[in-house]
Amino acid sequence: MKKIAVFTSGGDAPGMNACIRAVVRTAIFKGLEVYGISYGYDGMIQGNIKKMQSHSVSNIIQRGGTILKSARSEDFMTKEGRKKAYEQLIQYGIEGIVAIGGDGTFRGAKVFFEEYGIPTIGCPGTIDNDIYGTDYTIGFDTAVNTALEAIDKIRDTAAAHDRIFFIEVMGRDSGYIALECGIGGGAEFVMIPETETDLKRIVKSLKNLRKTKSSSIIVVAEGDEEGTADIIMNKVKEKVNDPDKEFKVTTLGHIQRGGNPTARDRVLASRCGMSAVEGLINGESNCMAGVVNGDVVYTPFEDCIGKTKALKADHLKLIEILSI
Ligand code: ATP
Repeated sequence: MKKIAVFTSGGDAPGMNACIRAVVRTAIFKGLEVYGISYGYDGMIQGNIKKMQSHSVSNIIQRGGTILKSARSEDFMTKEGRKKAYEQLIQYGIEGIVAIGGDGTFRGAKVFFEEYGIPTIGCPGTIDNDIYGTDYTIGFDTAVNTALEAIDKIRDTAAAHDRIFFIEVMGRDSGYIALECGIGGGAEFVMIPETETDLKRIVKSLKNLRKTKSSSIIVVAEGDEEGTADIIMNKVKEKVNDPDKEFKVTTLGHIQRGGNPTARDRVLASRCGMSAVEGLINGESNCMAGVVNGDVVYTPFEDCIGKTKALKADHLKLIEILSI
Protein backbone atom coordinates (compact mmCIF):
# COMPACT_ATOMS: atom_id res chain seq x y z
CA MET A 1 0.00 0.00 0.00
CA LYS A 2 1.49 3.32 -1.10
CA LYS A 3 -1.34 5.88 -1.05
CA ILE A 4 -4.20 6.33 1.38
CA ALA A 5 -6.92 8.95 1.85
CA VAL A 6 -8.68 10.31 4.91
CA PHE A 7 -11.99 12.17 5.28
CA THR A 8 -14.52 13.25 7.91
CA SER A 9 -18.24 12.69 7.42
CA GLY A 10 -21.62 13.12 9.12
CA GLY A 11 -22.00 15.36 12.17
CA ASP A 12 -18.74 17.03 13.21
CA ALA A 13 -17.23 16.14 16.56
CA PRO A 14 -14.45 17.73 18.63
CA GLY A 15 -11.35 15.57 18.21
CA MET A 16 -11.82 14.90 14.50
CA ASN A 17 -8.83 17.16 13.83
CA ALA A 18 -6.67 15.22 16.27
CA CYS A 19 -7.69 12.06 14.42
CA ILE A 20 -6.84 13.53 10.99
CA ARG A 21 -3.47 14.60 12.39
CA ALA A 22 -2.78 11.09 13.67
CA VAL A 23 -3.72 9.51 10.33
CA VAL A 24 -1.57 11.93 8.31
CA ARG A 25 1.47 11.73 10.55
CA THR A 26 1.32 7.93 10.98
CA ALA A 27 0.99 7.47 7.22
CA ILE A 28 4.00 9.71 6.56
CA PHE A 29 5.98 8.02 9.34
CA LYS A 30 5.29 4.65 7.67
CA GLY A 31 6.36 5.94 4.24
CA LEU A 32 2.88 6.32 2.69
CA GLU A 33 1.48 9.21 0.68
CA VAL A 34 -1.67 10.57 2.29
CA TYR A 35 -4.52 12.54 0.69
CA GLY A 36 -7.20 14.56 2.43
CA ILE A 37 -10.71 14.46 0.97
CA SER A 38 -12.75 17.58 1.83
CA TYR A 39 -16.51 17.49 2.54
CA GLY A 40 -16.85 13.75 3.17
CA TYR A 41 -18.43 11.54 0.52
CA ASP A 42 -19.50 14.57 -1.53
CA GLY A 43 -15.86 15.59 -1.82
CA MET A 44 -14.96 12.06 -2.85
CA ILE A 45 -17.52 12.18 -5.67
CA GLN A 46 -16.37 15.62 -6.79
CA GLY A 47 -12.66 14.86 -6.56
CA ASN A 48 -12.05 17.37 -3.77
CA ILE A 49 -8.80 15.59 -2.92
CA LYS A 50 -5.43 17.07 -1.95
CA LYS A 51 -2.11 15.60 -0.91
CA MET A 52 -1.28 16.29 2.72
CA GLN A 53 2.08 16.86 4.37
CA SER A 54 3.11 16.67 7.99
CA HIS A 55 2.75 20.46 8.27
CA SER A 56 -0.81 20.29 6.81
CA VAL A 57 -1.91 19.12 10.26
CA SER A 58 0.24 21.43 12.38
CA ASN A 59 -1.52 23.31 15.16
CA ILE A 60 -4.87 21.50 14.83
CA ILE A 61 -4.80 18.93 17.64
CA GLN A 62 -6.47 21.42 20.00
CA ARG A 63 -9.13 22.69 17.57
CA GLY A 64 -12.78 21.62 17.36
CA GLY A 65 -14.51 21.11 13.99
CA THR A 66 -12.61 19.48 11.14
CA ILE A 67 -10.08 21.03 8.75
CA LEU A 68 -11.35 18.58 6.09
CA LYS A 69 -14.92 19.86 6.57
CA SER A 70 -17.82 17.45 6.86
CA ALA A 71 -20.98 16.80 4.88
CA ARG A 72 -23.96 14.52 4.51
CA SER A 73 -24.10 13.24 0.94
CA GLU A 74 -27.30 12.25 -0.85
CA ASP A 75 -25.32 11.34 -3.99
CA PHE A 76 -23.25 8.72 -2.18
CA MET A 77 -26.47 6.90 -1.30
CA THR A 78 -26.83 6.11 -5.04
CA LYS A 79 -24.87 3.56 -7.12
CA GLU A 80 -23.99 6.26 -9.68
CA GLY A 81 -22.62 8.52 -6.95
CA ARG A 82 -20.44 5.77 -5.52
CA LYS A 83 -19.18 4.87 -9.03
CA LYS A 84 -18.06 8.48 -9.51
CA ALA A 85 -16.34 8.39 -6.11
CA TYR A 86 -14.49 5.20 -7.08
CA GLU A 87 -13.35 6.72 -10.37
CA GLN A 88 -11.97 9.76 -8.53
CA LEU A 89 -10.05 7.59 -6.06
CA ILE A 90 -8.60 5.48 -8.88
CA GLN A 91 -7.36 8.64 -10.63
CA TYR A 92 -5.34 9.49 -7.53
CA GLY A 93 -4.19 5.89 -7.06
CA ILE A 94 -5.77 5.63 -3.59
CA GLU A 95 -5.38 2.09 -2.22
CA GLY A 96 -6.73 2.56 1.31
CA ILE A 97 -9.24 4.81 3.08
CA VAL A 98 -9.68 6.07 6.64
CA ALA A 99 -13.27 7.22 7.26
CA ILE A 100 -13.84 9.33 10.38
CA GLY A 101 -17.53 9.57 11.30
CA GLY A 102 -20.54 7.90 12.83
CA ASP A 103 -22.64 4.84 12.01
CA GLY A 104 -24.03 6.39 8.80
CA THR A 105 -20.49 6.98 7.56
CA PHE A 106 -19.64 3.33 8.28
CA ARG A 107 -22.81 2.18 6.50
CA GLY A 108 -21.61 4.04 3.42
CA ALA A 109 -18.05 2.71 3.82
CA LYS A 110 -19.32 -0.88 4.05
CA VAL A 111 -21.42 -0.58 0.90
CA PHE A 112 -18.52 1.07 -0.95
CA PHE A 113 -16.07 -1.62 0.15
CA GLU A 114 -18.44 -4.37 -0.94
CA GLU A 115 -18.85 -2.75 -4.36
CA TYR A 116 -15.26 -1.71 -5.09
CA GLY A 117 -13.02 -3.49 -2.57
CA ILE A 118 -10.80 -0.55 -1.58
CA PRO A 119 -9.60 -1.41 1.96
CA THR A 120 -11.29 0.93 4.44
CA ILE A 121 -11.00 1.43 8.19
CA GLY A 122 -13.26 3.72 10.23
CA CYS A 123 -12.55 5.87 13.28
CA PRO A 124 -15.54 6.54 15.56
CA GLY A 125 -16.04 10.32 15.24
CA THR A 126 -19.41 11.32 16.67
CA ILE A 127 -20.52 13.06 19.85
CA ASP A 128 -23.34 10.51 20.32
CA ASN A 129 -21.23 7.60 21.66
CA ASP A 130 -23.70 5.19 20.09
CA ILE A 131 -21.26 2.99 18.20
CA TYR A 132 -20.69 -0.66 19.04
CA GLY A 133 -17.00 -1.63 19.13
CA THR A 134 -15.61 1.25 21.16
CA ASP A 135 -16.26 2.25 24.78
CA TYR A 136 -16.26 5.92 23.80
CA THR A 137 -16.47 7.80 20.52
CA ILE A 138 -14.31 10.77 19.59
CA GLY A 139 -16.09 13.98 20.68
CA PHE A 140 -18.37 12.48 23.29
CA ASP A 141 -16.28 13.49 26.30
CA THR A 142 -15.96 17.08 25.05
CA ALA A 143 -19.70 17.33 24.31
CA VAL A 144 -20.59 16.05 27.78
CA ASN A 145 -18.22 18.49 29.46
CA THR A 146 -19.55 21.40 27.40
CA ALA A 147 -23.12 20.51 28.34
CA LEU A 148 -22.11 20.06 31.97
CA GLU A 149 -20.57 23.52 32.13
CA ALA A 150 -23.85 24.96 30.87
CA ILE A 151 -25.91 22.88 33.31
CA ASP A 152 -23.78 24.12 36.24
CA LYS A 153 -24.56 27.69 35.22
CA ILE A 154 -28.27 27.00 34.80
CA ARG A 155 -28.30 25.35 38.23
CA ASP A 156 -27.20 28.66 39.82
CA THR A 157 -30.16 30.54 38.41
CA ALA A 158 -32.52 27.62 39.02
CA ALA A 159 -31.58 27.62 42.70
CA ALA A 160 -31.70 31.42 43.06
CA HIS A 161 -35.30 31.59 41.80
CA ASP A 162 -36.63 28.15 42.81
CA ARG A 163 -37.09 27.24 39.15
CA ILE A 164 -37.68 23.92 37.44
CA PHE A 165 -35.40 23.66 34.40
CA PHE A 166 -35.78 21.29 31.48
CA ILE A 167 -32.43 21.22 29.68
CA GLU A 168 -32.32 19.67 26.23
CA VAL A 169 -29.08 18.07 25.11
CA MET A 170 -28.16 16.36 21.82
CA GLY A 171 -29.05 12.72 21.17
CA ARG A 172 -31.65 11.96 18.49
CA ASP A 173 -31.35 8.20 18.94
CA SER A 174 -29.04 7.95 21.88
CA GLY A 175 -29.17 8.96 25.55
CA TYR A 176 -25.46 8.77 26.34
CA ILE A 177 -24.88 12.53 26.51
CA ALA A 178 -28.03 13.09 28.58
CA LEU A 179 -27.18 10.30 30.97
CA GLU A 180 -23.58 11.33 31.63
CA CYS A 181 -24.28 15.01 32.03
CA GLY A 182 -27.37 14.15 34.07
CA ILE A 183 -25.22 12.20 36.52
CA GLY A 184 -22.42 14.79 36.48
CA GLY A 185 -24.83 17.71 36.74
CA GLY A 186 -26.86 16.20 39.58
CA ALA A 187 -30.11 16.09 37.61
CA GLU A 188 -33.33 14.93 39.28
CA PHE A 189 -34.49 13.16 36.12
CA VAL A 190 -33.01 12.19 32.78
CA MET A 191 -35.21 11.44 29.77
CA ILE A 192 -33.67 9.36 27.01
CA PRO A 193 -34.90 7.56 23.89
CA GLU A 194 -33.76 4.11 25.10
CA THR A 195 -36.07 3.98 28.12
CA GLU A 196 -39.74 4.77 28.60
CA THR A 197 -40.21 8.16 30.22
CA ASP A 198 -42.46 7.97 33.27
CA LEU A 199 -44.13 11.42 33.20
CA LYS A 200 -46.47 10.49 36.08
CA ARG A 201 -43.53 9.91 38.41
CA ILE A 202 -41.97 13.21 37.38
CA VAL A 203 -45.23 15.11 37.88
CA LYS A 204 -45.71 13.54 41.30
CA SER A 205 -42.17 14.41 42.33
CA LEU A 206 -42.47 18.02 41.14
CA LYS A 207 -45.78 18.47 42.95
CA ASN A 208 -43.98 17.59 46.18
CA LEU A 209 -40.94 19.69 45.36
CA ARG A 210 -41.31 22.32 48.10
CA LYS A 211 -41.11 19.69 50.82
CA THR A 212 -37.69 18.56 49.70
CA LYS A 213 -35.93 20.84 47.23
CA SER A 214 -36.87 24.18 45.81
CA SER A 215 -35.38 23.83 42.33
CA SER A 216 -34.98 21.02 39.89
CA ILE A 217 -32.84 20.09 36.88
CA ILE A 218 -34.27 17.70 34.32
CA VAL A 219 -32.08 16.66 31.39
CA VAL A 220 -33.88 15.68 28.18
CA ALA A 221 -32.23 13.98 25.20
CA GLU A 222 -33.63 15.61 22.04
CA GLY A 223 -34.91 12.23 20.79
CA ASP A 224 -36.97 11.29 23.85
CA GLU A 225 -40.23 9.61 22.85
CA GLU A 226 -42.29 12.15 24.83
CA GLY A 227 -40.96 14.98 22.62
CA THR A 228 -38.49 17.84 22.87
CA ALA A 229 -37.82 19.62 26.18
CA ASP A 230 -40.31 22.31 25.22
CA ILE A 231 -43.12 19.83 24.59
CA ILE A 232 -42.34 17.82 27.72
CA MET A 233 -42.16 20.94 29.88
CA ASN A 234 -45.64 22.00 28.69
CA LYS A 235 -47.12 18.55 29.40
CA VAL A 236 -45.59 18.45 32.89
CA LYS A 237 -46.47 22.06 33.70
CA GLU A 238 -50.11 21.43 32.82
CA LYS A 239 -50.28 18.35 35.02
CA VAL A 240 -48.43 19.88 37.97
CA ASN A 241 -50.87 22.79 37.71
CA ASP A 242 -49.25 25.02 40.33
CA PRO A 243 -48.96 28.76 39.47
CA ASP A 244 -46.28 29.17 42.16
CA LYS A 245 -43.91 26.90 40.31
CA GLU A 246 -41.81 28.44 37.56
CA PHE A 247 -40.89 26.23 34.60
CA LYS A 248 -38.08 27.04 32.15
CA VAL A 249 -36.53 25.38 29.12
CA THR A 250 -32.98 25.68 27.80
CA THR A 251 -31.93 23.96 24.58
CA LEU A 252 -28.16 23.67 24.46
CA GLY A 253 -28.01 22.86 20.73
CA HIS A 254 -24.88 23.16 18.66
CA ILE A 255 -22.57 24.51 21.37
CA GLN A 256 -22.18 20.81 22.24
CA ARG A 257 -20.41 20.18 18.95
CA GLY A 258 -17.83 22.95 19.22
CA GLY A 259 -14.86 23.84 21.39
CA ASN A 260 -11.42 22.46 22.12
CA PRO A 261 -11.45 18.69 22.55
CA THR A 262 -10.73 17.37 26.03
CA ALA A 263 -7.54 15.45 26.75
CA ARG A 264 -9.49 12.19 26.65
CA ASP A 265 -10.86 12.94 23.18
CA ARG A 266 -7.45 13.98 21.86
CA VAL A 267 -5.83 10.79 23.13
CA LEU A 268 -8.67 8.57 21.85
CA ALA A 269 -8.62 10.31 18.46
CA SER A 270 -4.84 9.95 18.19
CA ARG A 271 -4.96 6.25 19.09
CA CYS A 272 -7.79 5.48 16.66
CA GLY A 273 -6.14 7.46 13.83
CA MET A 274 -2.77 5.76 14.28
CA SER A 275 -4.39 2.31 14.58
CA ALA A 276 -6.48 2.84 11.45
CA VAL A 277 -3.35 3.42 9.36
CA GLU A 278 -1.47 0.55 11.01
CA GLY A 279 -4.51 -1.65 10.42
CA LEU A 280 -4.58 -0.82 6.70
CA ILE A 281 -0.86 -1.60 6.42
CA ASN A 282 -1.41 -4.92 8.22
CA GLY A 283 -4.28 -5.97 5.95
CA GLU A 284 -7.28 -5.06 8.15
CA SER A 285 -10.31 -3.70 6.32
CA ASN A 286 -14.07 -3.13 6.37
CA CYS A 287 -13.83 -2.47 10.10
CA MET A 288 -13.48 0.29 12.71
CA ALA A 289 -10.54 0.96 15.02
CA GLY A 290 -11.97 1.63 18.48
CA VAL A 291 -10.84 1.31 22.09
CA VAL A 292 -12.45 -1.30 24.34
CA ASN A 293 -11.32 -1.74 27.96
CA GLY A 294 -8.21 0.33 27.23
CA ASP A 295 -7.08 -1.65 24.19
CA VAL A 296 -7.39 -0.94 20.46
CA VAL A 297 -9.86 -3.33 18.84
CA TYR A 298 -10.86 -3.71 15.17
CA THR A 299 -14.60 -4.38 14.91
CA PRO A 300 -16.25 -5.27 11.55
CA PHE A 301 -18.42 -2.44 10.18
CA GLU A 302 -21.26 -4.94 10.13
CA ASP A 303 -21.16 -5.17 13.94
CA CYS A 304 -20.54 -1.43 14.45
CA ILE A 305 -23.76 -0.63 12.59
CA GLY A 306 -25.76 -3.78 13.38
CA LYS A 307 -25.19 -4.21 17.10
CA THR A 308 -26.38 -1.90 19.84
CA LYS A 309 -24.07 -0.68 22.58
CA ALA A 310 -26.25 -1.08 25.64
CA LEU A 311 -26.44 1.72 28.20
CA LYS A 312 -24.94 0.84 31.58
CA ALA A 313 -27.74 -0.21 33.91
CA ASP A 314 -25.93 1.25 36.93
CA HIS A 315 -25.92 4.67 35.21
CA LEU A 316 -29.72 4.65 35.12
CA LYS A 317 -29.88 3.49 38.75
CA LEU A 318 -27.48 6.26 39.82
CA ILE A 319 -29.89 8.97 38.66
CA GLU A 320 -32.78 7.41 40.52
CA ILE A 321 -30.90 6.88 43.79
CA LEU A 322 -28.84 10.06 43.90
CA SER A 323 -31.71 12.43 43.12
CA ILE A 324 -33.79 11.68 46.23
P1 ATP B 1 -23.47 11.31 13.19
O1 ATP B 1 -23.70 10.06 14.00
O2 ATP B 1 -22.62 12.29 13.89
O3 ATP B 1 -24.74 11.89 12.63
P2 ATP B 1 -23.00 9.80 10.82
O4 ATP B 1 -21.75 9.33 10.17
O5 ATP B 1 -23.90 8.74 11.38
O6 ATP B 1 -22.60 10.86 11.91
P3 ATP B 1 -24.88 10.29 8.66
O7 ATP B 1 -25.41 11.55 8.10
O8 ATP B 1 -25.85 9.28 9.17
O9 ATP B 1 -23.82 10.69 9.77
O10 ATP B 1 -24.01 9.55 7.52
C1 ATP B 1 -23.00 10.26 6.81
C2 ATP B 1 -23.08 9.97 5.34
O11 ATP B 1 -22.82 8.58 5.10
C3 ATP B 1 -24.44 10.18 4.70
O12 ATP B 1 -24.67 11.53 4.40
C4 ATP B 1 -24.33 9.35 3.43
O13 ATP B 1 -23.64 10.05 2.43
C5 ATP B 1 -23.46 8.19 3.89
N1 ATP B 1 -24.32 7.01 4.12
C6 ATP B 1 -25.09 6.73 5.19
N2 ATP B 1 -25.77 5.58 5.03
C7 ATP B 1 -25.45 5.11 3.79
C8 ATP B 1 -25.83 3.97 3.01
N3 ATP B 1 -26.69 3.05 3.46
N4 ATP B 1 -25.27 3.84 1.78
C9 ATP B 1 -24.41 4.74 1.30
N5 ATP B 1 -24.02 5.82 1.98
C10 ATP B 1 -24.51 6.03 3.20
